[in-house]
Amino acid sequence: MRRKRHTEPPMLAAIDRHLDSSAKTIIDLQRALVAIPALGPLNGGPGETEKTAFLKKYLEDMGFADIRELRAPDPAVPCGYRPNLAAIIPGRNGAKTFWVISHTDIVPPGDRSLWASDPYTLRVEGDILIGRGVEDNHQGIVSSLLVAKALLELNVTPDMNYGVLLVADEETGSKYGLDYVVKCHPELFSPEDLFLVPDFGESTSRMVEVAEKSILWLKVVVEGKQCHASTPAAGVNSLLAAADFITRIPSLHARFDARDPLFDPPFSTFQPTKKEANVESVNIIPGRDVFYVDCRVMPCYQLDEIVTAVQGIGKEIEAEHGVRVSYDFVQFEQAAPATPADSEIVTRLLPRIRTVFGNEPRLQGIGGGTVAAYLRNAGHQAAVWATLMHNAHQPNERSSISASIKDAKVMAAMLFDKA
Ligand SMILES: [Zn+2]
Repeated sequence: MRRKRHTEPPMLAAIDRHLDSSAKTIIDLQRALVAIPALGPLNGGPGETEKTAFLKKYLEDMGFADIRELRAPDPAVPCGYRPNLAAIIPGRNGAKTFWVISHTDIVPPGDRSLWASDPYTLRVEGDILIGRGVEDNHQGIVSSLLVAKALLELNVTPDMNYGVLLVADEETGSKYGLDYVVKCHPELFSPEDLFLVPDFGESTSRMVEVAEKSILWLKVVVEGKQCHASTPAAGVNSLLAAADFITRIPSLHARFDARDPLFDPPFSTFQPTKKEANVESVNIIPGRDVFYVDCRVMPCYQLDEIVTAVQGIGKEIEAEHGVRVSYDFVQFEQAAPATPADSEIVTRLLPRIRTVFGNEPRLQGIGGGTVAAYLRNAGHQAAVWATLMHNAHQPNERSSISASIKDAKVMAAMLFDKA
């Protein structure tokens, strides 16, 4: 099906031309960012201070008049805080801000032998940039800064304020990043604001994430009585009981069977995953077994209901096998309310993706948490979208220059009322 292209406002055409000629800016910026590893203390690093200082200077040089640094106190890093940056270009409607939120921290490179080159030295191969962080989340940072650069250099006032928010600590929990900013600096945001998080997406640019499943990671400890394998009656075999327990976990699918085509898969999932080692010898009947269950639950259910159901199975196992079962929560995240399909962030974003990419974008819920949950829990409308090759956290992480430019075009067009 051919779609008639809208005629763009002349302002936007000028911005698009500016963005089209920004390959060198992208490479230079990525090279600088890759060379400043920003690892949080839980990943063995000193945090994001050096990288954020570089970015603050970059924003100042670009001509941002309004830059705020929000420091989340963290005694685990040498400087004692984790830096977050909020920079705004005023628009015609000063009451509403379109925010693009990216994170400055990265994950460690992992096994260096799997990298074809130094992870902290940018490699350029045609349209592709390679290095730790280039996709996750430098691409988002770069696209959002390209938009600002175009507005400032062309002296264009957008229809609404443009906000660039660069947060710390996304890779290890966001406590000192977006969670901190939303909780401790609510004055930064108005209820009318729109939020885009370019940190998840497909290479086709079609997927717009607007909802999440709840996540429950359960540790299950089954205790029996260890004995010699030749005299089973002298003990209680915890492995047999754990195995029986594990095979009953899939019955949860039938009990919590709500479906929603927004999600893929469109239902809750309950999967036994990790199993801790038990005894060292073949001739010992184990007295303690530990396994884990990963549950991704449709937002219509409360996680407490799931826990009660698992404990119900546990009671049956205790009665039938004579073991004791106990539980630990490794993760317990009740999903935030979804961003509605008719919210302004969605109704602005979809047509602009369609125009720039010539595709048919779709809304989707995902089975894992993103930082958008902090915004949604605070009542804000947030969409997660970017054009990504999905190699975040992998060796030889890659990002596309042309995708960075096109994503920037979508972000820029969001700022203008006429699509
Ligand atoms: Zn990320």
